[in-house]
Amino acid sequence: MPLLENADRHPFGAGPGRGECVAISDHVLWFRTVSQGAPMGGVNIWALRDGSGWAIIDTGFADPDTASQWQTIVAQLDGPITRIICTHFHPDHIGQVGTISRQFSVPLIMTEREWHYAQDLAAPHDAAAIASNTEYFRLYGLDDAALAQLAESATDQLTTGLPSECTFLRAGDLLDLGGGSWRVEIGAGHSPAPAMLINQRDGLAIVGDQLLTKITPHIGMEQSAMDADPLGHYLDYLEQALDMPPDMLALPGHGPAFLHAGQRADEIARHHQERLDTLALSLKAPTLIIDTMHTMFGRPLKGLSMILGLTEAHAHLRRLVLEGRADCETDATGRLLFTARS
Ligand SMILES: [Zn+2]
Repeated sequence: MPLLENADRHPFGAGPGRGECVAISDHVLWFRTVSQGAPMGGVNIWALRDGSGWAIIDTGFADPDTASQWQTIVAQLDGPITRIICTHFHPDHIGQVGTISRQFSVPLIMTEREWHYAQDLAAPHDAAAIASNTEYFRLYGLDDAALAQLAESATDQLTTGLPSECTFLRAGDLLDLGGGSWRVEIGAGHSPAPAMLINQRDGLAIVGDQLLTKITPHIGMEQSAMDADPLGHYLDYLEQALDMPPDMLALPGHGPAFLHAGQRADEIARHHQERLDTLALSLKAPTLIIDTMHTMFGRPLKGLSMILGLTEAHAHLRRLVLEGRADCETDATGRLLFTARS
């Protein structure tokens, strides 16, 4: 299938800038918290009409600049915030939940598994926890200097707290919002159990970070789940997403809203298959994960980008092992080494 022109795929263009609002319909508004650390420079905030107020989807990072951008968003709503729905637990989506839930006394709604991860994220991180988090990356082949650099960047505040309770979303739940009925679907791969909301009548799908246009969602191994198969789960999700109707408008966590989500799912699946093939060819001798960075990304990465790159490479290597295309062993110092099967 030929690649679509931008205008055919992105009917609302690039989307709102800092402090701006784009109306998708009378009942669905699009805001964005602009932030250098976010994929594609910002985090999309969707507001769905909820009675005389607005339910909001996702919240941006925990930093003070994002908090001040929220005051501008709130000033543009013609009613109070009624509830916060969080697509998944990552800091760019859950960061302002504490502040907003306290300010407006509104509940948080997300899936149970994501809620548990969010609680871990919000727990105070003492020096020992930070050290154990960074020490983990020694397995990937990082040296002392690189680990010390990681420990320095690990102290950033990730959340503004969380409410003491959460209402859980389950697959198939119907939410009466935004002038219609939104069905909950649960994704996989980018995070453990992200929520998506589908409005068949209006042809709208809030997809969180499950599908993004222009960039591919991060798929990485988690320290707490070394036997997991996030890429395998994500490829399964993409298989299902192929059936999304071409005229359904996907409302993602980052970047422009887009049509042809099924075609996008196919492109992303091909991208990962190509990465798997290229990676398998590069593993002629036992290889550390840090030494796959060039094959995977074509350039050296630093800081958070390096962590995301390493865990993404690991998810691909893990998939190769599960497909019987590579073996994993540890060297004398416990570092992981991967070799392709001949
Ligand atoms: Zn995100």
